Amino acid sequence: MNRISFDFHTHSRFSFDGDDTAEDMVNRAIALGMTHYAITDHIEVNLFYDGEYGAERSSREAAETIPALKEKYAEEIVLLYGAELGQSHHDPALAEKILAENPYDFVIGSCHMIRGHEDFYFLDYRKEPPEKLLPLYFEELLEMAETSDFDVLGHLTYPLRYICGDCGITVDMKKYEPAIDEIFRTLIRNGKGIEINTSEVREKIGTTLPNLPCVKRYRELGGEILTIATDAHSTADLGKNILDGIEVARQAGFDQIAVFRGRTAEFISI
Ligand SMILES: [Zn+2]
Ligand SMILES: [Zn+2]
Repeated sequence: MNRISFDFHTHSRFSFDGDDTAEDMVNRAIALGMTHYAITDHIEVNLFYDGEYGAERSSREAAETIPALKEKYAEEIVLLYGAELGQSHHDPALAEKILAENPYDFVIGSCHMIRGHEDFYFLDYRKEPPEKLLPLYFEELLEMAETSDFDVLGHLTYPLRYICGDCGITVDMKKYEPAIDEIFRTLIRNGKGIEINTSEVREKIGTTLPNLPCVKRYRELGGEILTIATDAHSTADLGKNILDGIEVARQAGFDQIAVFRGRTAEFISI
């Protein structure tokens, strides 16, 4: 596969930080020649009722819009109605209610903030050193993998986007390998997967989140469910570096990726 035929983690204006309408995103995906495309707008479960980052209204609007777009463009593209659920484990009852009320095809489970802290995007790493935050982050990912309902874990190494990418701090990931192994084993046991997120290939780090050695390790432990996605927040970033993501997947030993429809995985060759 040498063309961009899918993207499984993208944001429209139904996300607090998305730039373009869902329909514009779909049209761009079609123009790029994609056959499968997921809109996965943010629902930060712990901030669901928050004015600025809340998703109470936007998730309702998405539910009125995206299933209709699926039908409207059914001849041209397989559109997946998805969501990126953040911090489900901070409020499991609410997460369950959100999932029960919306007929999602695909759910990404992400952890953008650990308990008692803001999003990693906002943290000051001189005051809060990464070596204190990262063990807590991986503990919360394990908790999510054990208890939350989602299909793939989003951007496993998310904090590196800010710690390494924005602040230029080097992190020795070796010491987190046992924790990551435990997360992988738990995901695999619970029928969940991971994604290769290509956002940092186009941004500052220059590798996928997680990177090749990490995806390879997931495969070695028996991981089979894998998606590849840009985490685009605008039409301009749709499909970017998907081919790099495919290359990482192949080098890690994958020859297919998962496509979720109605929360069930099918597989397509890469
Ligand atoms: Zn995210
Ligand atoms: Zn995202």
